[in-house]
Amino acid sequence: MTTATLERATPPKIRQTRLLINNEWVDPVDGGSFETLNPATGETIAHVAAGTAADIDRAVKAARRALTSGPWSRMDAADRGRLLFKLADLVEAHAQELAVLESVNCGKTITDSVGDMQGVVNTLRYYAGWADKIEGKTVPVRGNFLSYTLRQPVGVVGQIIPWNFPLLMLAWKWGPALACGNTIVMKPAEQTPLTALRLGELAIEAGFPPGVVNLINGYGETAGAALVVHPDVDKIAFTGHVDTAKIIQKAAADTLKRTTFELGGKSPNVIFADANLEDAVAGAFHAIYFHGGQCCTAGSRLFVEDAIHQEFVERLAEKAKQRRVGDPLDARTEQGPQVSQEQLDKILGYVKVGEQQGATLLTGGERVGQKGYFVSPTIFDNVRDEMTIARDEIFGPVVSVLPFKAFDEVAERANRTFYGLAAAVWTKNIDKAHTFAKLVQAGTVWVNCYHVVDTTTPFGGFKMSGQGRENGEAALDHYTETKTVTIKLS
Ligand code: ADP
Repeated sequence: MTTATLERATPPKIRQTRLLINNEWVDPVDGGSFETLNPATGETIAHVAAGTAADIDRAVKAARRALTSGPWSRMDAADRGRLLFKLADLVEAHAQELAVLESVNCGKTITDSVGDMQGVVNTLRYYAGWADKIEGKTVPVRGNFLSYTLRQPVGVVGQIIPWNFPLLMLAWKWGPALACGNTIVMKPAEQTPLTALRLGELAIEAGFPPGVVNLINGYGETAGAALVVHPDVDKIAFTGHVDTAKIIQKAAADTLKRTTFELGGKSPNVIFADANLEDAVAGAFHAIYFHGGQCCTAGSRLFVEDAIHQEFVERLAEKAKQRRVGDPLDARTEQGPQVSQEQLDKILGYVKVGEQQGATLLTGGERVGQKGYFVSPTIFDNVRDEMTIARDEIFGPVVSVLPFKAFDEVAERANRTFYGLAAAVWTKNIDKAHTFAKLVQAGTVWVNCYHVVDTTTPFGGFKMSGQGRENGEAALDHYTETKTVTIKLS
Protein backbone atom coordinates (compact mmCIF):
# COMPACT_ATOMS: atom_id res chain seq x y z
CA MET A 1 0.00 0.00 0.00
CA THR A 2 2.97 2.35 -0.27
CA THR A 3 2.52 3.38 -3.88
CA ALA A 4 -0.39 3.77 -6.23
CA THR A 5 -0.45 0.58 -8.22
CA LEU A 6 -3.02 1.32 -10.88
CA GLU A 7 -2.25 3.19 -14.08
CA ARG A 8 -5.71 4.73 -14.02
CA ALA A 9 -8.17 3.47 -11.46
CA THR A 10 -11.86 3.01 -12.24
CA PRO A 11 -14.18 4.95 -9.92
CA PRO A 12 -16.05 2.57 -7.60
CA LYS A 13 -19.80 2.22 -7.45
CA ILE A 14 -21.40 4.44 -4.78
CA ARG A 15 -22.94 2.00 -2.32
CA GLN A 16 -24.38 4.19 0.39
CA THR A 17 -25.70 7.75 0.57
CA ARG A 18 -28.00 7.75 3.62
CA LEU A 19 -27.51 8.66 7.27
CA LEU A 20 -26.06 6.12 9.70
CA ILE A 21 -27.97 6.09 12.99
CA ASN A 22 -27.87 3.17 15.42
CA ASN A 23 -26.25 0.91 12.78
CA GLU A 24 -29.13 1.50 10.38
CA TRP A 25 -29.06 3.42 7.12
CA VAL A 26 -31.95 5.85 7.27
CA ASP A 27 -33.40 8.75 5.30
CA PRO A 28 -33.31 12.24 6.80
CA VAL A 29 -36.46 13.36 8.59
CA ASP A 30 -37.11 16.13 6.07
CA GLY A 31 -35.98 14.06 3.05
CA GLY A 32 -33.32 16.55 1.95
CA SER A 33 -30.21 15.80 -0.05
CA PHE A 34 -27.24 17.57 -1.62
CA GLU A 35 -25.05 16.92 -4.64
CA THR A 36 -21.50 15.80 -4.20
CA LEU A 37 -19.13 16.57 -7.07
CA ASN A 38 -15.97 15.26 -8.66
CA PRO A 39 -13.62 18.27 -8.48
CA ALA A 40 -11.62 17.02 -11.48
CA THR A 41 -14.67 17.37 -13.75
CA GLY A 42 -17.24 19.41 -11.83
CA GLU A 43 -19.72 16.61 -12.48
CA THR A 44 -22.15 15.18 -9.92
CA ILE A 45 -21.13 11.84 -8.42
CA ALA A 46 -24.12 11.26 -6.16
CA HIS A 47 -26.94 12.83 -4.19
CA VAL A 48 -26.25 12.38 -0.50
CA ALA A 49 -28.77 12.58 2.34
CA ALA A 50 -28.61 15.94 4.11
CA GLY A 51 -29.25 15.65 7.83
CA THR A 52 -30.76 18.47 9.87
CA ALA A 53 -31.36 19.13 13.57
CA ALA A 54 -33.99 16.39 13.82
CA ASP A 55 -31.54 13.79 12.51
CA ILE A 56 -28.79 15.02 14.80
CA ASP A 57 -31.21 14.54 17.68
CA ARG A 58 -31.97 10.96 16.63
CA ALA A 59 -28.25 10.21 16.33
CA VAL A 60 -27.43 11.77 19.70
CA LYS A 61 -30.16 9.69 21.36
CA ALA A 62 -28.73 6.52 19.80
CA ALA A 63 -25.21 7.50 20.90
CA ARG A 64 -26.43 8.19 24.46
CA ARG A 65 -28.22 4.81 24.64
CA ALA A 66 -25.08 3.03 23.44
CA LEU A 67 -23.01 4.86 26.05
CA THR A 68 -25.22 4.08 29.02
CA SER A 69 -26.70 0.68 28.20
CA GLY A 70 -26.05 -2.16 25.82
CA PRO A 71 -22.87 -4.00 24.85
CA TRP A 72 -20.55 -0.98 24.41
CA SER A 73 -21.22 0.29 27.94
CA ARG A 74 -20.20 -3.08 29.39
CA MET A 75 -17.43 -3.97 26.97
CA ASP A 76 -13.93 -4.74 28.23
CA ALA A 77 -11.39 -2.15 27.14
CA ALA A 78 -9.40 -4.88 25.38
CA ASP A 79 -12.45 -5.75 23.30
CA ARG A 80 -12.88 -2.13 22.24
CA GLY A 81 -9.30 -2.41 21.06
CA ARG A 82 -10.10 -5.59 19.14
CA LEU A 83 -12.93 -3.81 17.30
CA LEU A 84 -10.57 -1.02 16.31
CA PHE A 85 -7.99 -3.55 15.11
CA LYS A 86 -10.73 -5.23 13.08
CA LEU A 87 -11.73 -1.94 11.52
CA ALA A 88 -8.09 -1.23 10.65
CA ASP A 89 -7.86 -4.64 8.96
CA LEU A 90 -10.99 -3.90 6.94
CA VAL A 91 -9.65 -0.52 5.83
CA GLU A 92 -6.43 -2.22 4.80
CA ALA A 93 -8.34 -4.84 2.84
CA HIS A 94 -10.37 -2.13 1.05
CA ALA A 95 -7.58 0.43 0.81
CA GLN A 96 -7.46 0.61 -2.97
CA GLU A 97 -11.23 1.06 -3.29
CA LEU A 98 -11.26 3.70 -0.52
CA ALA A 99 -8.29 5.53 -2.04
CA VAL A 100 -9.98 5.76 -5.43
CA LEU A 101 -13.20 6.98 -3.83
CA GLU A 102 -11.24 9.61 -1.89
CA SER A 103 -9.52 10.80 -5.06
CA VAL A 104 -12.79 10.99 -6.98
CA ASN A 105 -14.57 13.00 -4.29
CA CYS A 106 -11.71 15.11 -2.92
CA GLY A 107 -9.45 15.49 -5.95
CA LYS A 108 -6.28 14.34 -4.26
CA THR A 109 -3.91 12.30 -6.39
CA ILE A 110 -4.27 8.56 -6.14
CA THR A 111 -0.72 8.40 -4.75
CA ASP A 112 -1.67 10.78 -1.93
CA SER A 113 -4.95 8.93 -1.28
CA VAL A 114 -3.10 5.63 -0.98
CA GLY A 115 -0.79 7.35 1.52
CA ASP A 116 -3.79 8.63 3.46
CA MET A 117 -5.25 5.12 3.71
CA GLN A 118 -2.01 3.89 5.23
CA GLY A 119 -2.33 6.76 7.72
CA VAL A 120 -5.89 5.69 8.54
CA VAL A 121 -4.78 2.11 9.20
CA ASN A 122 -1.82 3.27 11.31
CA THR A 123 -4.04 5.57 13.37
CA LEU A 124 -6.72 2.97 14.06
CA ARG A 125 -4.10 0.39 15.06
CA TYR A 126 -2.23 2.85 17.26
CA TYR A 127 -5.38 3.70 19.24
CA ALA A 128 -6.54 0.07 19.24
CA GLY A 129 -3.37 -0.62 21.19
CA TRP A 130 -4.17 2.14 23.67
CA ALA A 131 -7.67 0.91 24.56
CA ASP A 132 -6.57 -1.25 27.52
CA LYS A 133 -3.68 0.98 28.60
CA ILE A 134 -5.59 4.08 29.68
CA GLU A 135 -4.89 3.94 33.38
CA GLY A 136 -5.65 6.01 36.45
CA LYS A 137 -3.39 6.47 39.47
CA THR A 138 -3.40 5.81 43.17
CA VAL A 139 -2.64 9.07 44.91
CA PRO A 140 -0.80 9.51 48.28
CA VAL A 141 -3.39 11.77 49.94
CA ARG A 142 -3.20 13.14 53.49
CA GLY A 143 -5.15 11.23 56.18
CA ASN A 144 -6.39 7.68 56.40
CA PHE A 145 -7.88 7.51 52.96
CA LEU A 146 -7.29 5.65 49.75
CA SER A 147 -7.63 7.86 46.71
CA TYR A 148 -7.44 6.72 43.14
CA THR A 149 -8.39 8.13 39.77
CA LEU A 150 -10.52 6.60 37.06
CA ARG A 151 -10.30 7.74 33.48
CA GLN A 152 -13.73 7.52 31.97
CA PRO A 153 -15.14 8.48 28.57
CA VAL A 154 -16.25 12.09 28.14
CA GLY A 155 -19.53 10.76 26.79
CA VAL A 156 -21.29 11.49 23.50
CA VAL A 157 -18.84 13.32 21.30
CA GLY A 158 -19.72 15.39 18.26
CA GLN A 159 -16.99 15.38 15.64
CA ILE A 160 -16.93 17.81 12.72
CA ILE A 161 -14.31 17.35 10.02
CA PRO A 162 -13.13 19.12 6.84
CA TRP A 163 -12.70 18.05 3.22
CA ASN A 164 -8.91 18.04 2.75
CA PHE A 165 -8.11 14.68 4.38
CA PRO A 166 -11.61 13.23 4.73
CA LEU A 167 -10.85 9.71 5.92
CA LEU A 168 -7.62 10.52 7.74
CA MET A 169 -9.42 13.19 9.78
CA LEU A 170 -12.14 10.66 10.54
CA ALA A 171 -9.51 8.21 11.82
CA TRP A 172 -7.77 10.86 13.94
CA LYS A 173 -11.14 11.47 15.61
CA TRP A 174 -12.60 7.99 15.82
CA GLY A 175 -9.37 6.33 17.03
CA PRO A 176 -8.90 8.08 20.39
CA ALA A 177 -12.65 8.57 20.98
CA LEU A 178 -13.41 4.88 20.62
CA ALA A 179 -10.29 3.68 22.46
CA CYS A 180 -11.51 5.71 25.46
CA GLY A 181 -15.06 4.30 25.25
CA ASN A 182 -16.96 7.34 23.96
CA THR A 183 -19.78 7.21 21.42
CA ILE A 184 -19.74 9.38 18.33
CA VAL A 185 -21.96 11.52 16.15
CA MET A 186 -19.83 12.66 13.23
CA LYS A 187 -20.57 15.26 10.60
CA PRO A 188 -18.24 14.92 7.61
CA ALA A 189 -17.61 17.87 5.28
CA GLU A 190 -20.35 18.53 2.73
CA GLN A 191 -17.78 18.53 -0.09
CA THR A 192 -16.52 15.01 0.70
CA PRO A 193 -19.16 12.78 2.29
CA LEU A 194 -18.42 9.52 0.48
CA THR A 195 -15.52 7.74 2.16
CA ALA A 196 -17.00 8.31 5.62
CA LEU A 197 -20.15 6.50 4.46
CA ARG A 198 -18.05 3.55 3.34
CA LEU A 199 -16.30 3.55 6.72
CA GLY A 200 -19.72 3.43 8.35
CA GLU A 201 -20.40 0.20 6.48
CA LEU A 202 -17.03 -1.20 7.53
CA ALA A 203 -17.64 -0.21 11.17
CA ILE A 204 -20.85 -2.24 11.17
CA GLU A 205 -18.98 -5.15 9.56
CA ALA A 206 -16.22 -4.87 12.18
CA GLY A 207 -18.86 -5.38 14.88
CA PHE A 208 -19.24 -1.99 16.57
CA PRO A 209 -22.57 -2.16 18.44
CA PRO A 210 -25.51 0.05 17.39
CA GLY A 211 -25.20 3.72 18.31
CA VAL A 212 -21.43 3.74 18.86
CA VAL A 213 -20.66 5.50 15.58
CA ASN A 214 -23.29 7.61 13.85
CA LEU A 215 -22.78 9.58 10.65
CA ILE A 216 -24.85 12.60 9.69
CA ASN A 217 -23.82 14.24 6.45
CA GLY A 218 -25.14 17.71 5.72
CA TYR A 219 -24.25 21.36 5.90
CA GLY A 220 -22.30 23.07 8.63
CA GLU A 221 -24.91 25.73 9.32
CA THR A 222 -27.64 23.11 9.81
CA ALA A 223 -26.36 19.66 10.83
CA GLY A 224 -23.04 20.93 12.22
CA ALA A 225 -24.59 23.78 14.18
CA ALA A 226 -27.29 21.48 15.62
CA LEU A 227 -24.61 19.12 16.91
CA VAL A 228 -22.77 21.98 18.59
CA VAL A 229 -25.82 23.24 20.52
CA HIS A 230 -27.34 19.85 21.36
CA PRO A 231 -27.65 19.67 25.17
CA ASP A 232 -26.85 15.95 25.29
CA VAL A 233 -23.54 16.20 23.43
CA ASP A 234 -20.63 16.36 25.87
CA LYS A 235 -17.82 17.44 23.60
CA ILE A 236 -17.15 18.87 20.16
CA ALA A 237 -13.95 17.99 18.32
CA PHE A 238 -13.60 20.21 15.29
CA THR A 239 -11.14 20.53 12.44
CA GLY A 240 -11.68 23.35 9.97
CA HIS A 241 -11.51 27.07 9.49
CA VAL A 242 -10.62 29.45 12.31
CA ASP A 243 -13.75 31.56 11.68
CA THR A 244 -15.96 28.47 12.03
CA ALA A 245 -14.18 27.57 15.27
CA LYS A 246 -15.06 30.97 16.70
CA ILE A 247 -18.74 30.41 15.89
CA ILE A 248 -18.57 26.92 17.42
CA GLN A 249 -16.84 28.05 20.59
CA LYS A 250 -19.47 30.73 21.16
CA ALA A 251 -22.35 28.33 20.42
CA ALA A 252 -20.86 25.62 22.65
CA ALA A 253 -20.59 28.06 25.56
CA ASP A 254 -24.29 27.79 26.41
CA THR A 255 -23.89 24.14 27.36
CA LEU A 256 -20.22 24.49 28.43
CA LYS A 257 -19.20 21.63 26.17
CA ARG A 258 -15.63 20.53 26.04
CA THR A 259 -14.13 21.69 22.75
CA THR A 260 -10.97 20.87 20.88
CA PHE A 261 -9.95 22.63 17.70
CA GLU A 262 -7.47 21.91 14.95
CA LEU A 263 -7.46 24.95 12.68
CA GLY A 264 -5.50 26.64 9.95
CA GLY A 265 -2.01 27.99 9.61
CA LYS A 266 0.32 30.28 7.75
CA SER A 267 3.37 28.24 8.50
CA PRO A 268 6.87 29.73 8.23
CA ASN A 269 9.40 27.62 6.35
CA VAL A 270 12.84 29.12 6.95
CA ILE A 271 15.79 28.38 4.65
CA PHE A 272 19.22 29.41 5.87
CA ALA A 273 22.07 29.86 3.40
CA ASP A 274 23.99 26.97 4.97
CA ALA A 275 21.25 24.43 4.19
CA ASN A 276 21.69 21.66 1.64
CA LEU A 277 20.23 23.61 -1.25
CA GLU A 278 18.88 20.72 -3.24
CA ASP A 279 17.10 19.19 -0.25
CA ALA A 280 15.76 22.57 0.83
CA VAL A 281 14.34 23.36 -2.62
CA ALA A 282 12.66 19.95 -2.79
CA GLY A 283 11.43 20.37 0.80
CA ALA A 284 10.04 23.85 0.22
CA PHE A 285 8.31 22.59 -2.91
CA HIS A 286 6.69 19.69 -1.06
CA ALA A 287 5.85 21.99 1.87
CA ILE A 288 3.58 24.19 -0.25
CA TYR A 289 2.39 22.02 -3.13
CA PHE A 290 1.55 18.77 -1.33
CA HIS A 291 -2.18 18.20 -1.98
CA GLY A 292 -2.30 21.45 -3.94
CA GLY A 293 -1.58 23.50 -0.82
CA GLN A 294 -4.78 22.25 0.81
CA CYS A 295 -3.09 21.37 4.10
CA CYS A 296 -3.41 23.29 7.32
CA THR A 297 0.36 22.87 7.74
CA ALA A 298 1.27 24.12 4.22
CA GLY A 299 4.62 25.94 4.20
CA SER A 300 3.09 29.07 2.70
CA ARG A 301 5.50 31.67 4.11
CA LEU A 302 8.85 30.76 2.64
CA PHE A 303 11.64 32.78 4.28
CA VAL A 304 14.85 32.55 2.24
CA GLU A 305 18.18 34.04 3.38
CA ASP A 306 19.42 36.80 1.06
CA ALA A 307 22.66 35.05 0.05
CA ILE A 308 20.81 32.19 -1.68
CA HIS A 309 17.54 33.91 -2.48
CA GLN A 310 18.03 34.33 -6.24
CA GLU A 311 19.24 30.82 -6.94
CA PHE A 312 16.63 29.32 -4.62
CA VAL A 313 13.62 30.92 -6.28
CA GLU A 314 14.94 30.12 -9.76
CA ARG A 315 15.23 26.44 -8.87
CA LEU A 316 11.84 26.45 -7.19
CA ALA A 317 10.18 28.07 -10.22
CA GLU A 318 11.79 25.53 -12.54
CA LYS A 319 10.27 22.68 -10.53
CA ALA A 320 6.90 24.41 -10.33
CA LYS A 321 6.72 24.74 -14.13
CA GLN A 322 7.35 21.01 -14.52
CA ARG A 323 4.71 19.82 -12.07
CA ARG A 324 2.17 17.49 -13.62
CA VAL A 325 -1.26 18.90 -12.82
CA GLY A 326 -4.18 16.78 -13.96
CA ASP A 327 -6.36 13.72 -13.53
CA PRO A 328 -6.01 12.55 -9.91
CA LEU A 329 -6.69 8.95 -10.92
CA ASP A 330 -3.65 8.83 -13.19
CA ALA A 331 -0.78 7.47 -11.09
CA ARG A 332 1.66 9.84 -12.85
CA THR A 333 -0.23 12.97 -11.74
CA GLU A 334 1.50 15.08 -9.10
CA GLN A 335 -1.24 17.59 -8.34
CA GLY A 336 -5.00 17.21 -8.70
CA PRO A 337 -7.71 19.86 -8.68
CA GLN A 338 -8.62 22.14 -5.80
CA VAL A 339 -11.70 20.82 -4.04
CA SER A 340 -14.37 23.22 -5.34
CA GLN A 341 -15.28 26.18 -7.50
CA GLU A 342 -15.38 28.23 -4.31
CA GLN A 343 -11.77 27.35 -3.48
CA LEU A 344 -10.67 27.95 -7.07
CA ASP A 345 -12.23 31.44 -7.05
CA LYS A 346 -10.76 32.21 -3.65
CA ILE A 347 -7.24 31.24 -4.72
CA LEU A 348 -7.39 33.19 -7.99
CA GLY A 349 -8.73 36.16 -6.01
CA TYR A 350 -5.63 36.03 -3.77
CA VAL A 351 -3.40 35.92 -6.85
CA LYS A 352 -4.97 39.19 -8.03
CA VAL A 353 -4.50 40.78 -4.62
CA GLY A 354 -0.84 39.67 -4.56
CA GLU A 355 -0.22 41.36 -7.90
CA GLN A 356 -2.12 44.49 -6.89
CA GLN A 357 -0.10 44.81 -3.69
CA GLY A 358 3.18 44.65 -5.61
CA ALA A 359 4.51 41.11 -5.08
CA THR A 360 6.36 39.58 -8.04
CA LEU A 361 4.42 36.75 -9.67
CA LEU A 362 7.23 34.43 -10.77
CA THR A 363 5.16 31.58 -12.12
CA GLY A 364 1.65 30.13 -12.12
CA GLY A 365 -1.35 32.02 -10.84
CA GLU A 366 -3.73 30.61 -13.43
CA ARG A 367 -6.54 28.17 -13.78
CA VAL A 368 -5.48 25.05 -15.71
CA GLY A 369 -8.05 23.87 -18.29
CA GLN A 370 -11.72 24.77 -18.43
CA LYS A 371 -13.11 21.70 -16.66
CA GLY A 372 -12.55 20.98 -12.98
CA TYR A 373 -10.84 23.25 -10.48
CA PHE A 374 -7.14 23.07 -11.34
CA VAL A 375 -4.64 25.80 -10.44
CA SER A 376 -1.02 26.00 -11.59
CA PRO A 377 1.69 25.98 -8.88
CA THR A 378 2.21 29.64 -8.04
CA ILE A 379 5.19 31.54 -6.63
CA PHE A 380 5.14 35.12 -5.45
CA ASP A 381 8.59 36.57 -4.83
CA ASN A 382 9.64 39.66 -2.86
CA VAL A 383 6.59 39.44 -0.65
CA ARG A 384 6.47 41.69 2.42
CA ASP A 385 5.07 40.60 5.80
CA GLU A 386 2.18 43.04 5.71
CA MET A 387 0.83 41.90 2.31
CA THR A 388 -2.44 39.98 2.33
CA ILE A 389 -0.88 36.91 0.68
CA ALA A 390 1.67 36.72 3.52
CA ARG A 391 -1.02 36.92 6.18
CA ASP A 392 -4.12 35.02 5.04
CA GLU A 393 -4.37 31.27 4.74
CA ILE A 394 -4.92 30.76 0.99
CA PHE A 395 -5.31 26.97 1.11
CA GLY A 396 -4.03 26.60 -2.43
CA PRO A 397 -0.77 26.12 -4.35
CA VAL A 398 0.48 29.66 -3.71
CA VAL A 399 3.73 30.34 -1.89
CA SER A 400 4.96 33.72 -0.68
CA VAL A 401 8.75 34.09 -0.74
CA LEU A 402 10.00 36.48 1.94
CA PRO A 403 13.72 37.30 1.81
CA PHE A 404 15.58 37.80 5.13
CA LYS A 405 19.05 38.78 6.33
CA ALA A 406 19.63 37.52 9.89
CA PHE A 407 18.59 34.85 12.40
CA ASP A 408 17.00 37.17 14.99
CA GLU A 409 15.07 38.99 12.31
CA VAL A 410 13.58 35.85 10.81
CA ALA A 411 12.81 34.29 14.21
CA GLU A 412 10.78 37.38 15.06
CA ARG A 413 9.05 37.64 11.67
CA ALA A 414 8.16 33.94 11.66
CA ASN A 415 6.03 34.52 14.77
CA ARG A 416 4.31 37.62 13.39
CA THR A 417 1.01 35.84 12.72
CA PHE A 418 -1.98 34.83 14.79
CA TYR A 419 -1.50 31.26 13.59
CA GLY A 420 0.87 28.73 15.17
CA LEU A 421 0.35 25.31 13.67
CA ALA A 422 3.67 24.31 12.10
CA ALA A 423 7.07 25.65 11.14
CA ALA A 424 10.24 24.35 9.54
CA VAL A 425 13.89 25.29 9.43
CA TRP A 426 16.55 24.18 6.94
CA THR A 427 20.18 24.47 8.11
CA LYS A 428 23.25 22.35 8.81
CA ASN A 429 23.94 24.33 11.98
CA ILE A 430 22.48 22.59 15.04
CA ASP A 431 22.51 25.77 17.13
CA LYS A 432 20.33 27.57 14.63
CA ALA A 433 18.03 24.56 14.25
CA HIS A 434 17.41 24.03 17.97
CA THR A 435 17.23 27.72 18.81
CA PHE A 436 14.68 28.33 16.07
CA ALA A 437 12.70 25.26 17.14
CA LYS A 438 12.55 26.66 20.67
CA LEU A 439 11.62 30.21 19.67
CA VAL A 440 9.00 29.57 17.02
CA GLN A 441 5.41 29.50 18.22
CA ALA A 442 4.11 26.37 16.55
CA GLY A 443 2.73 22.99 17.61
CA THR A 444 4.98 21.14 15.18
CA VAL A 445 8.50 22.09 14.09
CA TRP A 446 10.37 20.28 11.34
CA VAL A 447 14.13 20.46 10.92
CA ASN A 448 15.39 19.66 7.40
CA CYS A 449 12.10 17.98 6.54
CA TYR A 450 8.41 18.91 6.10
CA HIS A 451 4.94 17.35 6.46
CA VAL A 452 6.28 14.46 8.52
CA VAL A 453 3.22 13.69 10.61
CA ASP A 454 2.93 10.45 12.52
CA THR A 455 0.01 9.13 14.51
CA THR A 456 2.29 8.62 17.52
CA THR A 457 3.24 12.30 18.01
CA PRO A 458 0.98 15.12 19.28
CA PHE A 459 -0.36 17.45 16.61
CA GLY A 460 -2.10 20.78 17.12
CA GLY A 461 -1.75 24.50 17.23
CA PHE A 462 -0.40 27.36 19.29
CA LYS A 463 -2.37 30.62 19.28
CA MET A 464 -5.36 30.65 16.92
CA SER A 465 -4.35 27.45 15.15
CA GLY A 466 -6.11 25.35 17.73
CA GLN A 467 -6.81 24.07 21.20
CA GLY A 468 -5.77 20.65 22.40
CA ARG A 469 -3.77 18.02 20.57
CA GLU A 470 -4.66 15.16 18.27
CA ASN A 471 -2.58 12.02 17.76
CA GLY A 472 -0.26 10.42 20.26
CA GLU A 473 -1.05 9.90 23.92
CA ALA A 474 -2.03 13.57 24.18
CA ALA A 475 -5.32 13.00 22.34
CA LEU A 476 -6.48 10.61 25.07
CA ASP A 477 -6.60 13.48 27.58
CA HIS A 478 -9.28 15.16 25.49
CA TYR A 479 -11.46 12.05 25.30
CA THR A 480 -11.43 11.14 28.99
CA GLU A 481 -12.73 12.68 32.19
CA THR A 482 -10.63 12.06 35.27
CA LYS A 483 -12.60 11.01 38.34
CA THR A 484 -11.13 10.97 41.85
CA VAL A 485 -12.48 8.24 44.14
CA THR A 486 -11.67 8.56 47.86
CA ILE A 487 -12.35 5.79 50.38
CA LYS A 488 -12.19 6.21 54.16
CA LEU A 489 -10.09 3.50 55.72
CA SER A 490 -10.89 2.57 59.29
P1 ADP B 1 -13.37 24.75 5.22
O1 ADP B 1 -12.93 26.14 4.89
O2 ADP B 1 -12.30 23.75 5.35
O3 ADP B 1 -14.55 24.27 4.43
P2 ADP B 1 -15.14 24.98 7.45
O4 ADP B 1 -14.76 25.38 8.82
O5 ADP B 1 -16.11 25.82 6.70
O6 ADP B 1 -13.77 24.87 6.72
O7 ADP B 1 -15.69 23.50 7.41
C1 ADP B 1 -15.21 22.46 8.23
C2 ADP B 1 -16.38 21.68 8.77
O8 ADP B 1 -17.15 22.53 9.61
C3 ADP B 1 -17.34 21.16 7.70
O9 ADP B 1 -17.78 19.87 8.08
C4 ADP B 1 -18.47 22.16 7.76
O10 ADP B 1 -19.69 21.65 7.32
C5 ADP B 1 -18.51 22.45 9.26
N1 ADP B 1 -19.16 23.72 9.61
C6 ADP B 1 -19.22 24.85 8.89
N2 ADP B 1 -19.93 25.81 9.55
C7 ADP B 1 -20.33 25.27 10.73
C8 ADP B 1 -21.08 25.74 11.85
N3 ADP B 1 -21.58 26.96 11.90
N4 ADP B 1 -21.28 24.90 12.89
C9 ADP B 1 -20.77 23.65 12.86
N5 ADP B 1 -20.07 23.15 11.83
C10 ADP B 1 -19.84 23.93 10.78
